Amino acid sequence: MKALVLTGTEQMEIQEIPDQPLKNNEIKIKMKYAGICGTDKHLFKGLPGSAQANPPVILGHENSGVISELGPNVKSGLQVGDRVTIDPNIPCGYCSYCHDNKPQLCENMEAVGVTRDGGMAEYVYVPETNVYKIPDSLSFKEAAMAEPVSCMIHALKQVDIKTHHTVLVVGDGFLGQLYIQYLANRGVKKVDVSNRNSKKIDQLKKLGATNVIHHDEIKEKYDIVIECVGVTKTQERAVSSARRGGQVLMFGVANPDDVIQISSYDIFFNELTIKGAFINPHSMNEAIQLLTNKSLLDIEPLLSHEFTLEEVPDFLAGNINEKITKAVINLEA
Ligand SMILES: [Zn+2]
Ligand SMILES: [Zn+2]
Repeated sequence: MKALVLTGTEQMEIQEIPDQPLKNNEIKIKMKYAGICGTDKHLFKGLPGSAQANPPVILGHENSGVISELGPNVKSGLQVGDRVTIDPNIPCGYCSYCHDNKPQLCENMEAVGVTRDGGMAEYVYVPETNVYKIPDSLSFKEAAMAEPVSCMIHALKQVDIKTHHTVLVVGDGFLGQLYIQYLANRGVKKVDVSNRNSKKIDQLKKLGATNVIHHDEIKEKYDIVIECVGVTKTQERAVSSARRGGQVLMFGVANPDDVIQISSYDIFFNELTIKGAFINPHSMNEAIQLLTNKSLLDIEPLLSHEFTLEEVPDFLAGNINEKITKAVINLEA
């Protein structure tokens, strides 16, 4: 099969890979769409994503496709021809975190498209427990977004947001836009967004943003602050923008060496909650439901670019100078 292989730091090439025999509980999926995410850029540069990628490996953890073959011991009832999406994260099931029902913290985590081969290829091989059937009314392009949406769902479970709360979303990228759309549609009173780009004001307001503010000009304090950028400056601002009793969700992926400066007195005096949210445990079904229903989340208009496999290295290297909200790869193009 044809695959785009990460062969080293900032090195990728299209290779012809021999077919593998399926393991007992594995399912072989003919890929339709794969999303490209910020994590892929980190992995491309040799930084860790949800885990460390050790080249050679095929990236692609936001995947949709059609089942083409079942391993000899598959028991889930899935059939050849089923339209599916994939939860990329494979916890071990036996470590102390897995036993404590926190599989996202698993000590032996494997991930499709990170530690093992992913969807930037003609086919992907996935354990049956990670394969989710999708409704006919959900397009493959949208279904590939089940993983990022499931990360948002898990993150929102970490904070207690009421509709009378005021929310600041820090960052206007794809996930920032998903948060705005979802929370505004859920009836949250005020969903402000801070960014650097005044050209996006109309677009963000259309999604449901109440006010669009430059990162440097945040004056108000908020009940909930959702940081979706992952750099030190915006993370520090996220914390300082929380009002008394406020909750700060650290969602953006930082570089592991980054250190931020925040006031410990503020955390004490204002009773702040600062909460991390990592990947997507127990959230795939809800994500598929949200994507299918479309009343709270309409994701197709946010998928601004569609690439072929051949175009991906240039995109990951930052050589495509267009404003990209979210790019997907059409594996059949
Ligand atoms: Zn992702
Ligand atoms: Zn585990």
